[in-house]
Amino acid sequence: MTDLIAGLTRDHVNRLRELLAGEVITPENDGYDDARRVWNAVYDRRPALLVRPTGAESAATAIRFGREHDLEIAVRGGGHSAAGHSTSDGGLVIDLSRMRGVTVDPERRIARANGGALLGELDVAAQAHGLVCPIGVIGHTGVGGLTLGGGMGRLQRRFGLTIDNLRAVDLVTAGGRVIRASADEEPELFWGIRGAGANFGVVTSFEFDLHPFGPLLHRGVRIFTATRVHEAWAAFRSFADVAPEALGLIFSIGLPDPGAEYFEAVGGQPIVVISYNHSGDGADVMRDVAPLGSGPEPVSSTDISQPYLEAQTANDLAMAWGQRSYIKGGYADEFRPEALDALVEHVAGALPGSSFAMTVQGGAMGRVADDATAFTGRDARFEMSADAGWEDPALDEVGRDWVRRAMAIVEPDAVTGRYVNEIAESGQEESRAIYGDAKIRRLSALKREWDPDNVFRLNHNIAP
Ligand SMILES: Cc1cc2nc3c(=O)[nH]c(=O)nc-3n(C[C@H](O)[C@H](O)[C@H](O)COP(=O)(O)OP(=O)(O)OC[C@H]3O[C@@H](n4cnc5c(N)ncnc54)[C@H](O)[C@@H]3O)c2cc1C
Repeated sequence: MTDLIAGLTRDHVNRLRELLAGEVITPENDGYDDARRVWNAVYDRRPALLVRPTGAESAATAIRFGREHDLEIAVRGGGHSAAGHSTSDGGLVIDLSRMRGVTVDPERRIARANGGALLGELDVAAQAHGLVCPIGVIGHTGVGGLTLGGGMGRLQRRFGLTIDNLRAVDLVTAGGRVIRASADEEPELFWGIRGAGANFGVVTSFEFDLHPFGPLLHRGVRIFTATRVHEAWAAFRSFADVAPEALGLIFSIGLPDPGAEYFEAVGGQPIVVISYNHSGDGADVMRDVAPLGSGPEPVSSTDISQPYLEAQTANDLAMAWGQRSYIKGGYADEFRPEALDALVEHVAGALPGSSFAMTVQGGAMGRVADDATAFTGRDARFEMSADAGWEDPALDEVGRDWVRRAMAIVEPDAVTGRYVNEIAESGQEESRAIYGDAKIRRLSALKREWDPDNVFRLNHNIAP
């Protein structure tokens, strides 16, 4: 009998097929190449097998099988991991795509999302009752990975991070037990789940608090030539501390889209983009964003009101599966003027579609104590990230190098922590940078308790 890989025979796989509710896919099956794809095409990996469980029991069976055969286990929700953590060369992928679906209890204002649900499902199910959970901005991202890392998005200043609205999870542990974690049940584990969750098990269901909201979201964009970066930043910076919580604000430095009507006006040179979204009353928007007008004259200015669901999927196609991407993030309270100059110069040599962005934190997410969850960095004034996207594999090193050098420019401005979901490199050094020393110690103790053999190691790993 030939082995599929060392020690794993067709008999073993056939036995798994008999045991398991769900699909088992090996390289010999049609559909393998499609099944092994993840969002970021850089991670072109070939797992020994993929299992698609339909519930907690079959997920537990898959974990046991992976352990018995000493296979590296990857868990996949929406497949968007920046670091390629939801696939493996030669390992076992537990793909939760047969566990999509969200239900809402409108009376109690609670949503229950299955472990493989996508953000778009949660948005649609909640908005059907005039409710919302603050989540990310692209509909095809997984609820799983986004929530277990924290969950940032358009409503974070108004309603907090996604984890600030998480009531409980059901998860299958490394030992195959099905447990529930919440503020009352396994509270220490629930602390770790909220920010370092990919380390502790396969989450089969998430329960969220919802808020009355919608249907409209108000949004606007101001574009400036980057020669005005200091004046634009000064106006933005002084507004950041006093802006109402209904306002989400982002300052970014990038290249103009050649199709944009202001392209000529900026001579194809780097631009500064200030974008806002306003989740309050439409009648208050122009009054609330007026302080942005104290900066330089923009070359372009737009303000729209649109259904929240439309805003939440507006960039789904632009961010479609199959692109190559690299991202690195951090937090800062201030930026030195020379850092802004250096970023503008650096952007001038970037691949199209690359940018550096600073997002204003605070508001509801800032009112939660930093040590209330494993997520680190919520006390900082700004979350920052550099990212690049491209299609040609020959540009992989160019894209990565640009992002690394952008983040090196602002390294002196960085404060403790990084957002786990926007770090493409992994290793012990990265985990330490993400969580900081104190939280790493607390997380390691949890890891020793719940996953001492480090079965769940394809993540920003906490060593047991
Ligand atoms: C196009 C795009 C847009 C994004 N927008 C945002 C945004 O607006 N806000 C934001 O905060 N982040 C955003 N992100 C980052 C995103 O949160 C992370 O990439 C996140 O890890 C994606 O989750 P996923 O389930 O799709 O990914 P996966 O690759 O499936 O999983 C990521 C990690 O989580 C683990 N995991 C996933 N599901 C489970 C589960 N049910 N149980 C246990 N472990 C699980 C995986 O093992 C892996 O380690 C975006 C990413 C992309 C590519």
